[in-house]
Amino acid sequence: MNFRRIDAESMDQQDSLHSMRNHFLIPKSKEGKDLYYFCGNSLGLQPKKTKEYVEQELNDWAKFGVTGHHDAKNPWYSYHELLTEAMSKIVGALSIETIIMNTLSVNIHLMMVSFYQPTPKRFKILIEPSCFPSDRYAVESQIRFHGYDPKDALIILQAEPGSNYISKEHIETIFKNEGDQIALALIGSVNYYSGQAYPIAFMTQLAHQYGCLIGFDLAHGAGNLLLNLHEDGPDFAIWCGYKYLNGGPGTLAGCFIHERHAYNRELPRFAGWWGHNKITRFKMEPAFEVMPGAEGWQLSNPPILPMACLRASLDLFSSTSMSALRKKSIELGNVLFNLLDELNDPKITVITPRNEEEHGCQISIKVKNADKSLFQKITSKGVIADWREPDVIRIAPVPLYNTFTDVFDFVEILKNTLKNG
Ligand SMILES: *Cc1c(COP(=O)(O)O)cnc(C)c1O
Repeated sequence: MNFRRIDAESMDQQDSLHSMRNHFLIPKSKEGKDLYYFCGNSLGLQPKKTKEYVEQELNDWAKFGVTGHHDAKNPWYSYHELLTEAMSKIVGALSIETIIMNTLSVNIHLMMVSFYQPTPKRFKILIEPSCFPSDRYAVESQIRFHGYDPKDALIILQAEPGSNYISKEHIETIFKNEGDQIALALIGSVNYYSGQAYPIAFMTQLAHQYGCLIGFDLAHGAGNLLLNLHEDGPDFAIWCGYKYLNGGPGTLAGCFIHERHAYNRELPRFAGWWGHNKITRFKMEPAFEVMPGAEGWQLSNPPILPMACLRASLDLFSSTSMSALRKKSIELGNVLFNLLDELNDPKITVITPRNEEEHGCQISIKVKNADKSLFQKITSKGVIADWREPDVIRIAPVPLYNTFTDVFDFVEILKNTLKNG
């Protein structure tokens, strides 16, 4: 029997995470109706408490001025430490491996300074196809910075012909053929276009077997997938705070550096005073004494206001668990996959792999002949999704605030639009 709206409603009633939605501000239509918001993979929604968290710091700044660094309710001097534990749990890391700092593309560069050390024999970087443009620009510029040419030094994983799917065999083949020349693999955990989640543990093990370093860009993974960075063992990972982590537009980003590098003072790095031993930082001495762990990669006295935004959301994550969120996410995804299957319309194809282990929240729908008008029409009917050139509508039901009825209503809107325009 077909899945009906009352079935979706009953799933919402049984969903133990359903009330989490009440902690978020849901954008509304002109008529005041909640929009169907499926862009948590691009900009997560604002927690209702964010304003309070930011106001606390604005008020303490007004009250204390500079002494707020130590006297604020949440002293700014160590404010970032308030985020570390929650953040490390979300990505399955140890506290010493986790730091909130800078923004994502900046962290990509900082990590490459430490972990891309090309030699004439081993100078290549492996990336995935349809790699996010910022990552690609960063990688190519690092290659040039070291005096190599991206034409020789950049390797892109090959997908199945006519598709974007990367199988484990593809990954094995590339390491078998070129592993001895790869200095670094830098892979997105979930591809922003296809929605495919790559096997982090498998790729890490292979990379290390061939003597390559490996890092993951978790912009689309953090707060989405059930991650186990410490155990899976990549050398580093980076992610932004504004997608699934709901930290607000352009907020601070995260960075993971595996414990095995925590005490290695020989690693090349770009330094700043916030990476210096915090006990002696204000002695202002010229010799740089790096802190152990991820904190040692910090550069600046960090911006407190965006960190307060991120903290409001991390506190919500701490009130539940990634395993509960992931479980609901898989259920939302299954409902969406099944309903899209039932549409059986030649104008659309789902390109995200169906297997639970190979996708996160996002499901990518490829539109035949790159007909963007379909996207524009569903937008006019209250669906906030996004269009990725050349031809994909991305829909990301997020377990913190999306409902099963959101998913049902979306597919009804899509169905009517495909049928009647
Ligand atoms: C969103 C995203 C970025 C954005 O980088 P910023 O520095 O935050 O602008 C980079 N890479 C990937 C893979 C992304 O998904």
